[in-house]
Amino acid sequence: PAPVVAVVGRPNVGKSTLVNRVIGRREAVVEDVPGVTRDRVSYSAEWLGRPFTMVDTGGWESDARGIDKTVADQAELAVQRADAVLLVLDTVVGVTATDEAIVKMLRRSGRPVILVANKCDSRALELQATELWSLGMGEPYPVSALHGKGAGDLLDALFEIL
Ligand code: GDP
Ligand code: MG
Repeated sequence: PAPVVAVVGRPNVGKSTLVNRVIGRREAVVEDVPGVTRDRVSYSAEWLGRPFTMVDTGGWESDARGIDKTVADQAELAVQRADAVLLVLDTVVGVTATDEAIVKMLRRSGRPVILVANKCDSRALELQATELWSLGMGEPYPVSALHGKGAGDLLDALFEIL
């Protein structure tokens, strides 16, 4: 079976935009309102002829309650079932307490993680992305999911660990 890759991160960091960019379709729902993806949704993707499954998740929040708690639980479940994880971060905002809580959850999971420094729409932001090394999760890959920049290097790195 095709390897499974879970896409996790805070609400509004661009997870669904990234999924759409990689699958080359607009099926994952993108919204300016945080937390729109309520369920895990799987999509068939391919990189250089190699198939994989991408699982878009709702935004993970450490202090979530009610529906948001369900969304966070679904994201954790997606991580547990994944062969690798793309942790999406907002380079413009930088590292937040929630990002750090997600990193803890991911370390517990033991799954291999690749850091996606999203929203690197400019060269200056690409340089800013190096600050994400501070998470201690290895190299941050600068990407602009919106403009389609950096996805190739990211997917090359992903297939090195799959
Ligand atoms: P999700 O909640 O993590 O799935 O985030 P979405 O994919 O729904 O995107 C949230 C918002 O961020 C939307 O307004 C997107 O257009 C915007 N966004 C996503 N990727 C980028 C990017 O690379 N650059 C910029 N400037 N905005 C982005
Ligand atoms: Mg989404």
